[in-house]
This record gives sequence, structure tokens and C-alpha cells, in this order.
Amino acid sequence: MLSERLQQAINEQIGKEFYSGYLYLSMAAYFEDLTLNGFAHWMRVQGQEESCHAMIFYNYMAEQGARVRLPAIDQPQSDFKSPLDVFETGLAHERTVTQSINNLMDIAIEDRDHASHSFLNWFVDEQVEEESTFDTLRSKLKLVGGESHGLFMLDQEVGARVFNMPAQLLNKI
Ligand code: MG
Repeated sequence: MLSERLQQAINEQIGKEFYSGYLYLSMAAYFEDLTLNGFAHWMRVQGQEESCHAMIFYNYMAEQGARVRLPAIDQPQSDFKSPLDVFETGLAHERTVTQSINNLMDIAIEDRDHASHSFLNWFVDEQVEEESTFDTLRSKLKLVGGESHGLFMLDQEVGARVFNMPAQLLNKI
């Protein structure tokens, strides 16, 4: 049984994950406009992953007999100064998501809710990966420095990203 406080925080988190998906889709649209199709693809995949995160929380609430109440989703930013600005914005966003996941973990620990603690561990690890991925691409874009050949090479590299359904959602979506 999840505490009221944790249920409310997870409902908010579902909205934050969908918002992340919305933000990354908005970033995909920005890259689409620049004909950086590899980056657009990468952001679409990232957006899909975020919707999966939302559904993992949704399923957990349902499994625990808690009531899912979806919050409103804010309008995402649609204009960016450069590809580098996109990844700086993405990294800053992921850092706020990490804080939010840590907050959920703090509640689970205070509640002595071991099931939620165990469930949230995956998200704690996932955030380390998310921040690292955005940070790496931000660094690469800094190195390229807007030079078109380097940007083209990087676009090809990130365009090879493959979407992998998280294991928790196999046969559960
Ligand atoms: Mg996420």
C-alpha cells in the first residue's frame, strides 16, 4: 500500500515523464527543421523512452491498487539557439528529473516502503545514465563547435540509435 503522499508524488512524476517525452519531441522537431535527421531521430527515440518511463510508473500504481490521476502537461520550449543549446537544455532538464526521482526515493525511505524503494532503484540508476548521455553529446557538440562537417558526422552517429523497450514493459503496454 502506497502512502497518500507517495501516490500524489508518483502521479506528478507521471506528468513529468510525459512532459520529458513532449520536450524531446519538440527538440526532434527543431532538428527536423534544421534537416539534422539523425539528431531528430535520436530525440524521437529519447521521447519514446520517456513515455515508457511514465507507463512504468502508471503500471506500478495500478499494481499497487493506487489511483492514477494524470496532471496537465506544460507546453515545451520549441525554439533553441543551436544544437548545443538543445543538449544543454536537455541536460539541465534531466538534472531536475533526477532531483524529482530522489524526492520519490526520500518519501519511500521515510515511509519504510521497501517495495517502492526497490521499484525506484531502477529509476535512480537510469538517471545516472540519462545525465551521462546528454553530457557526452553536449561535450561532442562543444568540440564540433558548429563546424558543418563535424556536425554532419555526429548526426550520422546519433541517427543509428535504436529504441529498446524497457524490460518492465514487455507485454505490459
Ligand atoms: Mg525519464
